Amino acid sequence: MNLFSDYHTHPQGHRVQPYCQTLLQPWIDSARARGLTDIAFTDHDRYHAGIDFDEIDKLRAANPDIKIRAGLELDNDPETSAVGREWVEKNWARLDFVLGSVHYLDRADQMFDSVPAGAEQFADRKIDEIYADYFRRVREVAATGLVDCLSHLDLIKIHGHRPKAPIVYLVSETLDFISTRGLAIELSTAGWRKPVNELYPSDEIIRLAVEKRIPFTTASDAHSHAQLGENYSRLAEKMQQLGISEVCVFERHKHRVRALSDL
Ligand SMILES: [Zn+2]
Ligand SMILES: [Zn+2]
Repeated sequence: MNLFSDYHTHPQGHRVQPYCQTLLQPWIDSARARGLTDIAFTDHDRYHAGIDFDEIDKLRAANPDIKIRAGLELDNDPETSAVGREWVEKNWARLDFVLGSVHYLDRADQMFDSVPAGAEQFADRKIDEIYADYFRRVREVAATGLVDCLSHLDLIKIHGHRPKAPIVYLVSETLDFISTRGLAIELSTAGWRKPVNELYPSDEIIRLAVEKRIPFTTASDAHSHAQLGENYSRLAEKMQQLGISEVCVFERHKHRVRALSDL
């Protein structure tokens, strides 16, 4: 089973770097070298100033063998996300794919998923309550109507904190919400390079999502082109074990399911 798509990538990394062929072409070369044929650029909404749709069009013309999707990762940053949402609304028609993420809990000055600093937000707190609050925020992002897919759905486990309650009690409402709205969730190998060392989301959440017929994208959350498709053979094995034989791809926010066996 060959995975062919990576729907979570950050060509700009963690600062504004205006899109140009020199910045973007290495990502396509790297995709090609790894056998990936469909990739989405999903820079953080706070770096929207660097995104240039004309440069993406140029890149598409120069690389007709690779599907290149214009995307964004929209999060809940209390300082920047209002502007991010406006930008998505304004550019909706030129975007193929928008990821929705929760990186912030109560503190506006620190993403809870910074490693290792973000772990201090969990100190002396009831972990079940943090999980419930996190998933409530995920539903808020999903409810904006501005996202196609939820990223790293159980990112809250990043530092290894586990709830006492079975995860099904904490995540079911969120999965129902995602399913009712026709949104997808991603299978992200990024969790394997974080302290928790586990795929996002967990096997148990994936099984629940399969029952609810929620479609999946495959993703690495690459912040460098060298990370594209990271750990994809391990992901393919996991998907096989969990009985997932299709992934979805997006064009202008419409999703299409592709069977992996046909590839
Ligand atoms: Zn993220
Ligand atoms: Zn990301």
